[in-house]
Amino acid sequence: MKPIPYGHQCITDEDIRVVVETLKSDYLTQGPKITEFEAKFSNYCNAKYCSIVSNGTAALHLCALALDVRPGDRIITTPITFVASANGFKYCGAEIYFCDIDKKTYILDLDKLEEKLSQKPKGYYKGVVVVDFAGYPVNMEKLRTIADKFGLWIVEDACHSPGGYFIDSNSDKQICGNGKYSDLTVFSFHPVKHIATGEGGAITTNNLELHKKIQLYRTHGITKDSEFLNENHGLWYYEMIELGFNYRITDFQAALGISQLSRADEGIIRRNEIAKKYNDAFSKIDKIKTPFVEDNVFHAYHLYVIQVEDRLGIYNYLRSQNIFAQVHYVPVHLMPYYKQFGWKEGDLPIAEDYYKHCLSLPMYPTLTDEEQEFVIKTIKDYILN
Ligand SMILES: *Cc1c(COP(=O)(O)O)cnc(C)c1O
Repeated sequence: MKPIPYGHQCITDEDIRVVVETLKSDYLTQGPKITEFEAKFSNYCNAKYCSIVSNGTAALHLCALALDVRPGDRIITTPITFVASANGFKYCGAEIYFCDIDKKTYILDLDKLEEKLSQKPKGYYKGVVVVDFAGYPVNMEKLRTIADKFGLWIVEDACHSPGGYFIDSNSDKQICGNGKYSDLTVFSFHPVKHIATGEGGAITTNNLELHKKIQLYRTHGITKDSEFLNENHGLWYYEMIELGFNYRITDFQAALGISQLSRADEGIIRRNEIAKKYNDAFSKIDKIKTPFVEDNVFHAYHLYVIQVEDRLGIYNYLRSQNIFAQVHYVPVHLMPYYKQFGWKEGDLPIAEDYYKHCLSLPMYPTLTDEEQEFVIKTIKDYILN
């Protein structure tokens, strides 16, 4: 059996065809495919505006810039995420505070968040970055109520959850990134994520002012928009009005993204099928804890995470059988970089305990039934012997 990774992109002949076609066109970067991808992706998320950018980390940094995050601003996030969720704000000098996760869903515990916010005067914290970890959509309606009470902005890191949704208290479907409750939502198009463009990312929002700032910071802080110009010398004229970055994506990557997006719904259905098969195989085994999913949630299953007592043993045994499970994540507050700000072992017990036992099993649409059966059998062989 060939190696089975925990995640893998799916590139079709049609994907390759559209990339080649774009390479032969007049535009390699900043061409029509980017605008088309932005329109199609905002439509997919049901958001008003979308900016496609060079990667998910750049997207997070752009959120911090658009929200005017300044040195010393305090923001709160979850420790069980990829480091970029915190780093994007650290780039602007923010002080990062971590709040523990919920034992069942592994996402930021909103009750603990509220408790933490209540201990300080309003305005002490500026914003919250929540993560739809593994593809589990955060209840943004509940979060918005809390955030409004304490005057916080919300960035939703939905890198794991394009296509995921929750049902709100009005029985309305709230798809991740629709901008109804969050100020800005961030996605990544890294190959292990749902939609692959090589490197790539997106920011969706319903806030025109924030959207315009993101577009400005994406291209050096340069504008030709008469609304922003101080002077105007002719059609060539532009001004740099902020210190921006080059966070653009190429047109051929955007073409790939459009093609991938057209298969996103199939992909998420397949991910849910795979999850169901794992659940059926493992839910009766005491030594394996399968993911908990609330009734009002449609999980996007970027990851399928189990918890086991002997994680290292299983991980190594799977590796010996050519199955490359992964661990998501080493808690961010225990990274040496963040420890220098005073974070230490014991600060966030639920996240730390989760980290000791979590294991992400192979989960991607092109995982075959045969491969999945082999993964299941190998885990059972190890656990039940
Ligand atoms: C992948 C990922 C990112 C960063 O995305 P890149 O495109 O790799 O920069 C940020 N946050 C989370 C939760 C991710 O999984």
